[in-house]
Amino acid sequence: MKFNKQVWTLGIAVISIIVFNSNYSQVLSNENPVLNSDNNESNTMKKTDAEWKQILSQEEYRILRSKGTERAFTGEFDGHFEEGMYICAGCANNLFESGTKYRSGCGWPAFYEALPESVEETKDNTFGMNRIEITCSKCESHLGHVFNDGPDPTGLRYCINSVSMDFKPDEKK
Ligand SMILES: [Zn+2]
Repeated sequence: MKFNKQVWTLGIAVISIIVFNSNYSQVLSNENPVLNSDNNESNTMKKTDAEWKQILSQEEYRILRSKGTERAFTGEFDGHFEEGMYICAGCANNLFESGTKYRSGCGWPAFYEALPESVEETKDNTFGMNRIEITCSKCESHLGHVFNDGPDPTGLRYCINSVSMDFKPDEKK
């Protein structure tokens, strides 16, 4: 009788250890998907407000991060028609190809098409207007607005602040 009791105690102890260990390894393996999902967001670029203030000029900060607008006909790319790529001034994400730029006469650089996945659209009802705001898909900086009065083939006019962009000329071969 006494022997049986000892065997039982030992058996329960062994089972307890096995159960504890399997629970513990489950906890560890559950942590891995969480780490992996963080890595999936590495194609976006998030910065704090203080970090943006350090890397941007005052005018860039006003437009890119506070959704400001440069004065019409003042931007460096309004009348700029060289061949190359217009990239985000905040994160260098490719945004517009020079081949899609056209003279809209509106006072800001205009494109009829954005590169796929390069920009995000958001409804913007500020200033009593129903507009669609365009932001960089990578760093969420404000770029400008898109309107339905553009030329063929899309009928769209991406009206973008010069300050929101940098220009990368095509390499001449
Ligand atoms: Zn960007």
